[in-house]
Amino acid sequence: MEPNKPVRVRFAPSPTGFLHVGGLRTALYNYLFAKHHDGVFVLRIEDTDQSRKVEGAVENLIATLDWAGIHYDEGPHKEANHGPYVQSRRLEIYHNHARQLIERGHAYNCFCTPERLEQVRQKQIAMKLAPAYDRHCRDLPTKEVRDRLNGGERHVVRMKVPVSGETSFNDFIRGRVTIAHKILDDQVILKSDGFPTYHLAVVVDDHLMEISHVIRGEEWLSSTPKHVLLYQYFDWVVPNYAHLPLLLNPDKTKLSKRQGDVAVEEYRSKGYLSEALVNFVAFLGWNPGDEREIFSMQELVKEFTLERVGKAGAVFNAPKLDWLNAQYLRRKPNSEIARVLKEELKKSPFGRKEYDDEYLAKVVEAMRERVSFVKDFLEKSPYFFSAPKEYDPAVVKKRWNSGAGIRMMKLSDEFAKLQDPGKEDYEAVLERTADTLKAGRGDLIHPLRLAVSGMGAGPGLYDILSILGKDETIRRINTAIERLK
Ligand code: GLU
Repeated sequence: MEPNKPVRVRFAPSPTGFLHVGGLRTALYNYLFAKHHDGVFVLRIEDTDQSRKVEGAVENLIATLDWAGIHYDEGPHKEANHGPYVQSRRLEIYHNHARQLIERGHAYNCFCTPERLEQVRQKQIAMKLAPAYDRHCRDLPTKEVRDRLNGGERHVVRMKVPVSGETSFNDFIRGRVTIAHKILDDQVILKSDGFPTYHLAVVVDDHLMEISHVIRGEEWLSSTPKHVLLYQYFDWVVPNYAHLPLLLNPDKTKLSKRQGDVAVEEYRSKGYLSEALVNFVAFLGWNPGDEREIFSMQELVKEFTLERVGKAGAVFNAPKLDWLNAQYLRRKPNSEIARVLKEELKKSPFGRKEYDDEYLAKVVEAMRERVSFVKDFLEKSPYFFSAPKEYDPAVVKKRWNSGAGIRMMKLSDEFAKLQDPGKEDYEAVLERTADTLKAGRGDLIHPLRLAVSGMGAGPGLYDILSILGKDETIRRINTAIERLK
C-alpha cells in the first residue's frame, strides 16, 4: 500500500433501477472521504450484467445523487483521463487483461457447458460438498485449447486460484482478513457473451482509474480475496480496503423492503429533505464521537474519518429520520421551504395550478410551526391550494348553527367593501359586524373558519384570510352558505 498516493475513490453502482439507501451510504462515505482529503470522487457504472440492465437507471441514479448533494468529479458526462466510466464501453480493456492472465498462466479457457456444470453441482450437493467448479478445463493441453477456440466453441475464462495456501489483506474497518484458498472457486472472469464478470472488471478498473481506497459494503468482503489474487497476478499494488457495516432492520435482520422503504427515490418522493436523509445516512455506521446529531454536508466533510466507522451492523431507525427532517425543516427560511413545496404541489392533485413563490412563502410562514414534512402542508392545510370540497361534519354540527348563514352573509357583504385588506382589516370588520349583530365574536369566527377551510382548527384565521385574499374569501363564504343551508 502506498500511503502518499493522492486519494481517489469511487462509487461503482450497478444500474438496476433505483438507488438503495445502502448505496447512498456507500456513495456518501466515498464522497466525504474524498472531500476530506482533497481527493477525487469517481462515479463508475458497473453494467456488465446485461440481463439486469434497466433503461434510464443511470440517469436516474445521477439525478438522485445530485439531489442528495453528492457530486462526482469524474464519471459519465464528466469524462476525464481515466474514462470511459461505463464498463460496457470498456470491453476491449477487459479482453486484453484476461488474455494477459491466460498468457501468464493465471487464468484459463473453460469449455464446460451449463449442463455439465449443473451435473457437477448436483453430484457435489448429493455428496454434501460445497458446490464449486471441479477445474475440469484447468489443465487442458495447449493444442486442444487452441483447436477448440479456432473451432469457435463457446467458452468462458476462469481465474486460477491456488489449491493451497491463503490470501490476506488489511481492511480499515475489519482489520486483517485471511481466507484459505481451498474455499475459493476458480471464478469466471470473462463470460461467454464477451462481458467480464464483476471480479475482473472491478480490479482492472480500480487499478486503471488509480483508485487509492475501495470503500464499499460488507457484502463484497468475501469477494475481496479473489480481487487481491488478481492484483497479485497482474503485479499491481492492492488498494486500501474499507468494508462498511451491514444495514439492519430494527429487528436486526438485513435491511429489507418488507420493513420499510429502501429506495432513496421513495424518500425523495415522500418529501424528505435531502439534508435530513444525508445526515441520517451518515450516521449509519459512523458517528462523531460526541453528542452532536445535526451535521451539514460541509460539517460531515470536515469530520468524517474511516477511523470512526464501526464494524457492528447499523440499525435503520426510521423515527430518527423523521425527527431529523422536522429539525431541518424548522431551520429553513420560508422561501426555501416554499421552493420544495412547489415541487411537492406539482406532483399532487393540486398540481394543475401554478402557485407563485410569494403566495407559497406566506403559506409556509403561517404553517411552519405545525409541520414536520413538506407534504404536511398539503395534508394539514389543503385549503391553501383549493377551496374546501367538503366541511368537517363534526365541526359543522358544532359551529354552523341556525344563525350562521345570516351572519356569514353579512360578513361577506362587509368584506366586499374593503380595499386591499390586510389581516387587521378583516379582524376589525369581523369585530364590528359581531357588535352590529349583537353576536359573540366566536359566533362569527368559527363558522368563518369552517367556510374558508372546511376544518375546525389551523393557523390564525386572519392569516388564512389575508393569504387567500378578499375575492377568494368571499367566494368561499358564499359557497359555504349555499352548501350548508
Ligand atoms: N457494482 C457493485 C455494486 O453494485 C460494486 C461493488 C464495489 O464497490 O466493488 O455495488
